Amino acid sequence: MALTEFELIDRFFSNMVPAPLGVRGAGEAGIALGVGDDCALLQAPAGHQLAVTTDTLVAGVHFPAGADPHLLAQRALRVNLSDLAAMGAEPLAFTLAVTLPAADERWLEAFAGGLREDAERFRIGLAGGDTTRGRDLVITIQAMGTVPAGQALTRAGAHPGDRIFVSGRLGDAAAALAILGKAAGAASGAEQRRLQRYWLPEPRLALGSVLRGMATAAIDISDGLAADLGHILARSGCGALIDPQRIPTAIDDDCPADLAIERALHGGDDYELCFTVAPTRLADLRRAARSLPVELADIGEITARPGLRAWDGETETPLPGHGFTHF
Ligand code: ADP
Ligand code: MG
Repeated sequence: MALTEFELIDRFFSNMVPAPLGVRGAGEAGIALGVGDDCALLQAPAGHQLAVTTDTLVAGVHFPAGADPHLLAQRALRVNLSDLAAMGAEPLAFTLAVTLPAADERWLEAFAGGLREDAERFRIGLAGGDTTRGRDLVITIQAMGTVPAGQALTRAGAHPGDRIFVSGRLGDAAAALAILGKAAGAASGAEQRRLQRYWLPEPRLALGSVLRGMATAAIDISDGLAADLGHILARSGCGALIDPQRIPTAIDDDCPADLAIERALHGGDDYELCFTVAPTRLADLRRAARSLPVELADIGEITARPGLRAWDGETETPLPGHGFTHF
């Protein structure tokens, strides 16, 4: 017998709240009322603001139809968590809207399994959602986080003289786009690492928390460094000079250095953070960075002169901010 909508929700999407979080009493931060009513009730800690973000993945646009549902679920949650990280927010709860071509139990089992694993890993509970049937698979997750009032990191606070940093290494996810259809068994070691970076981006939540009160602006890199740093520049009303040679690309990359840099600048999907720090706070950043699970690289400086430019030690070249856009 095919599953009804409510059996499906009950079996796969209720009770996805990490154990010690549980469903909380009124007054305690967390999910006060979860899946099963008309709305969920969420409680933010006193003195905090809610940070809310949503991202949709469409089959055939964001991922190949037929993609592994376990990975798909994790990627869908992680790209949202990355937005929370970029604002310096702590995960509180998420909602899930899925449009499914069919109620395929094996698919749902794997999808819910992947989601549950990451809900536990990142300590965030599923508070509700919507389940519909449609021609194409569409997954929308909305994540909510909390941030001490007034302390969220935005794109708007960079000043001339601030240093520009990126976390981790850039470009692997863009390199994976060409091989998304490849079975894990058929992929080389380098290809497997790239696929992993694409499907399982690491939301930089610990870094985001540390940057509260320290960074002047932050963004997560979803559309390529040039485009995303460009958003900081536009919102902050300034420009930047970066040294492309300082951008951390994949360690054991078997591609030429200029292609690696091109991918880092103009490829997407890395979900690392790009942020700016005033010169007076660099020592604090260095100290804080020691306890972080990710490397930080200083790649350049914010300038009063508008525009994003590359500096190779001799010449300055304008960097177009072209990343992926849907339209
Ligand atoms: P309503 O008709 O009031 O919008 P629904 O019948 O759509 O409610 O959903 C019933 C309950 O199941 C709600 O609490 C809703 O949040 C939850 N829900 C529906 N789909 C999902 C899903 N994919 N994941 C998590 N919760 C879901
Ligand atoms: Mg209702």
